[in-house]
Amino acid sequence: MSENLLAGQTTYISVIVPIYNEEDSIPGLCQALLAVLDLLGRPFEIICVNDGSSDRSLEILRQETTLRPELKVVSFRRNYGQTAAMMAGIDHASGEIIIPIDADLQNDPEDIPLLLAKIEEGYDVVSGWRKDRQDAAIRRNMVSRMANRLISRISGVHLHDYGCTLKAYRRDVVKGIRLYGEMHRFIPIYATWMGARVCEIPVRHHQRQFGKSKYGLERIVKVLLDLMVVKFLDRHFVKPIYVFGSIGITSLIISFLGTVWMMWLKLVEGVSMILTPLPLLVAMTFLVGVMCILMGLLAEMLVRTYFESQQRSVYLVRETLNLETK
Ligand code: UDP
Ligand code: MG
Repeated sequence: MSENLLAGQTTYISVIVPIYNEEDSIPGLCQALLAVLDLLGRPFEIICVNDGSSDRSLEILRQETTLRPELKVVSFRRNYGQTAAMMAGIDHASGEIIIPIDADLQNDPEDIPLLLAKIEEGYDVVSGWRKDRQDAAIRRNMVSRMANRLISRISGVHLHDYGCTLKAYRRDVVKGIRLYGEMHRFIPIYATWMGARVCEIPVRHHQRQFGKSKYGLERIVKVLLDLMVVKFLDRHFVKPIYVFGSIGITSLIISFLGTVWMMWLKLVEGVSMILTPLPLLVAMTFLVGVMCILMGLLAEMLVRTYFESQQRSVYLVRETLNLETK
């Protein structure tokens, strides 16, 4: 537990707001968040992460912070994207419960108490579900519904809406997590894989009032590629040679069968090898096979460097009894 120096109390809730060019939304957002959090009567902080805004966002945040010490700002030198902004927020948060929310007021701060109630029921992650999403029907809502279904299928973690920023996490689930690319939406998946209890509740969603969305359709490609990485890292991170090696060995077997077939054609049927595509096939599959196995060995070396240089363990312990956690 960490001290909230200003209030002299332990911070309970850390709200994290990624902000990129949202100058018109900020005053209303701060007001709405403070109203909800003040009512809860628990020590809190609001960490606004200015993700290299080129408008007056930082200036407005500066004004707001002079009024309330609970408002804190981390300001990036340039635009690094929403995932990086969320990570900076998590790194600076001292609360027991971490709640990210969009700055554009599309999420409703009034839903925070609902998320909190679920966390207090004993869940480690509560994910918001924009059941009645107020964005472009086909370009956003339909595409996102399909993407969500795919993510749910591939990850085996069944949520309706991974993309909703409004979620609540117990601190130990997200502290120390490293996020890249579009991966903030996969935190519930990581968390489930690490043994956390995850649930989902419907949250309100409003149309954007000010400014415009920072994303287009290109995000979907990034999300799908990240999904592949996440899935690969989950399954095979510790033993990459199993993936590369299996592909390599399959390829070598095909190469061997091709050679046998080629020989048989030549010796038994008297067909010249050059008239078939077999020599090419054999050479290609042989090369692919050898390369895959070598790449697998290389990946194994990387994994060892990762674990050993950071003194990480390949397992995670939830608790120990009569024993110091190592
Ligand atoms: N955002 C950010 N950095 C970026 C893009 C977006 O911090 O590079 C913030 C943005 O200010 C907003 C949130 O991420 O608070 C969600 O962005 P947006 O509303 O554009 O996404 P949408 O709701 O359209 O999915
Ligand atoms: Mg938005």
